[in-house]
Formats: sequence, C-alpha cells, structure tokens
Amino acid sequence: MELYTINTGFFKLDGGAMFGVVPKKLWSRTSPSDENNLCTWAMRCLLVIEDGKTILIDNGIGNKQDAKFFGHYHLHGNDSLEGSLQKIGVSNKDITDNFLTHLHFDHCGGSIQIDSSTQKFTTTFPYATYWSNKDHWEWAIQPNDREKASFLKENILPIYESGQLDFIDVPNGKLTSNFEVLFMDGHTEKQMIPKLRYKNHTLVFAADLLPSVSHIPIPYVMGYDVRPLITLNEKKTFLEEAALNNYVIFLEHDPSYECCTVKMTEKGVVLDQTFSLNEL
Ligand SMILES: [Zn+2]
Repeated sequence: MELYTINTGFFKLDGGAMFGVVPKKLWSRTSPSDENNLCTWAMRCLLVIEDGKTILIDNGIGNKQDAKFFGHYHLHGNDSLEGSLQKIGVSNKDITDNFLTHLHFDHCGGSIQIDSSTQKFTTTFPYATYWSNKDHWEWAIQPNDREKASFLKENILPIYESGQLDFIDVPNGKLTSNFEVLFMDGHTEKQMIPKLRYKNHTLVFAADLLPSVSHIPIPYVMGYDVRPLITLNEKKTFLEEAALNNYVIFLEHDPSYECCTVKMTEKGVVLDQTFSLNEL
C-alpha cells in the first residue's frame, strides 16, 4: 500500500461550534481564534494506492460554490485538490474510487465540478466509483434541519445521476483487504472511518470522529454532532483502542499536524506524538 497526503487548503469555522459545550477559555489554549471567533482548519485528504486501485478518501470543499458561500469559510493556503494530485502525478481520470467518509460539504465538495463547456454539474473523477453507504445516503438526501446547511444538494445528487455511486456494506464493509471501514453514529448517521494496514501500522483516517488533536479530551465534542452522547462513547472506545494498539491517527482537520498517536495515562488518553505521514 502506498499513501499520499492530499492537502486541499484551509478554511475557518466558529471555535464555539467546533468545541460544543467547552468554554472558550479552555479551547482557545490549543485552538486560537481570530477577531470573529473563527479558528483555522485543514481539509486534508488521503490517497491510497493498493490492489490496482487509486483510492481518494474525501475531497475537500470543491470550487463550484458562489463567492457568498466561500466568503463564510475564508478559504486560504496554497494547496488545492487538483494541485496536490498533480504534484504526485495523479490525474482525475486515474482515480478509481472516491471514498466519502460522509457527505458534509467540507468532505465531499470536490466530488462534483461545473463543466466549463456545458455549465452543467459533472463528476470530477469520471472513472471513479463514489462510495457512501445506504443509511448515510438516505440520511443526507432528506436532511434534518440541523444538518441541512452541511448537506448540499449539488454535492450529492449529481453523484447518483452520474451512475457512479455505490454503497459499502454496513456494518462489515471493506474496500480492499487492507482497507476496513468503521461506522460511527455520533457526528452524523453512519460516518465511515477508514482503518488501513500500512507499513506494519494500523492507520485510521479519523475524519470528524476526531477532527484535530485539540479534540482528544473526551468532552471536546463538536457542536455540529447530531448525537453528542454517542460521540463521547465512540471517541472514548476508539481512543482507548488507539492507545492500546499504537494506532497512527490521520487528522483531516488539524491545522498543524497530519498524524498523531495517543497514550493511556492516569488521567485518561492523551496526545503522545505528532508527525507527518512521510516520517512513518
Ligand atoms: Zn462533518
């Protein structure tokens, strides 16, 4: 298995929304905010080459929304989905599979682009299978009022219309022999967390189960999560397992760190080391 980090740039989200009930006095120690209370987050994807497949996990926010929408999210940085794929010599046509952890716009906005000649929506990866799961898909296409602003029709419906959509089996899904899928219900219905075997490590793409190292303390749960008490349990169980087995945790949203490990202490699970994928 080969792995490559695909940086798609940074955006900003309200610090309070990112840490739920945790007071700013506490979260701002590790996640400083600007004058509008916004904190910077990465949209860091992962490319997996294995078994003849070129699999992209998530794809960032995309480029088809209008200026008003992007104005809310303050996109910045020099990286883009296209640029980061180009850097490693991978074209959109080479992607065989686009695995979508869930269908919130900062994870799947790059799925669909606007065709410059027809001005119609078209899949960014013309030969890829786009992977979701049936439960999450049905949840996303009839969104509740809380998640409505995160599930954008234009990111989701054209995938179905292209005929490129397929579903991972719940609860025992796998994409390849070394690409297992964990299902989590706290952040949204059946978020999919890839668990990979890579160079004698277990590497977990944590997506919104653990957006950043600042979210390691158990009460630090995003205000966005639809079932925060479930997140508490899922995160606790996952972090204990990660500490016990020395998992490499790949962080999609951490503004500084690509990967981390955690360790068990008397006070519970805490951050151990941070490093980049290249250092593995
Ligand atoms: Zn999300």
